[in-house]
Amino acid sequence: MKLQAPEHPAPADAAARKAIAPVICYPVEGLPQPDLAAYRAARDGWTRTAEILVPPREARSFDVPAGHFFRITSVEGPQVGDLNLWNAHDLGERFFSGKTRALHGTHLSTGDRMWSCLPHMRPIATITDDTLDWYAFDAFGGSVHDVIGTRCDPYTHALLSEGGQYHHCCHSNLTRALSARTGLPPHQAEVHVHDVLNVFMCTGFTRDTGQYFMKASPVRPGDHLEFFAEIDLLGALSACPGGDCSAEHSSDTAACHPLLVEVFAPKEPPAGWVPPGANAYDRTHGI
Ligand SMILES: [Zn+2]
Repeated sequence: MKLQAPEHPAPADAAARKAIAPVICYPVEGLPQPDLAAYRAARDGWTRTAEILVPPREARSFDVPAGHFFRITSVEGPQVGDLNLWNAHDLGERFFSGKTRALHGTHLSTGDRMWSCLPHMRPIATITDDTLDWYAFDAFGGSVHDVIGTRCDPYTHALLSEGGQYHHCCHSNLTRALSARTGLPPHQAEVHVHDVLNVFMCTGFTRDTGQYFMKASPVRPGDHLEFFAEIDLLGALSACPGGDCSAEHSSDTAACHPLLVEVFAPKEPPAGWVPPGANAYDRTHGI
């Protein structure tokens, strides 16, 4: 957080230095672009193959084969969800929030990809529909589906609050869900839990101090975020104890609701779709 009263005087050319226009770090025009029309056409006649209701303040895992879709839907009331994705055959390949943010911006929507961590770095899911895309950015700089937060966790909670042993933070919920799915003991499952896509959560950074903020999610029952699985995915979704995140999380005070996950199998894969191969970097690191 920047000091409200800086300790060092501005140089004579401060205004000129600050007036330099920004340059986009990673122009995404060079990325392989998803053929959204082909993805969406593949939804015609698809079959729903799984339905998982994630209870409030809990998480559940789900499997999505490559070439299938999954959809996260708000049911009953406003609720945000914390999403983790892994390669179903290798927990070492998992969603890379930081680089996804660097490529696509602070908040994701239709057409954006979810990228996997180094040394894999390939698209593992593509967003194919977002009923909250109308929200764009509000006057506070807030938007939905961020990749700037991490996930609420009991360690930060213990640091910031007195007497906090809270076990239903998204970090612990995801740990329990992954442990149940894989059979890994909780301490081993925990290290595979990673920074999330904050589904339906409305967040941003304050203009004056740059602090992470949240506000009541605009999500309403019936809203959904839909994904296409580029590889065989193992997913886990936590219905955050913050509910719609209008007030606080890491407690049992917020009104919480379930979230619905549905998996759909298309009749045929999208026309022209090719599963992503390994990253082209040779991994010799100059040695
Ligand atoms: Zn949470």
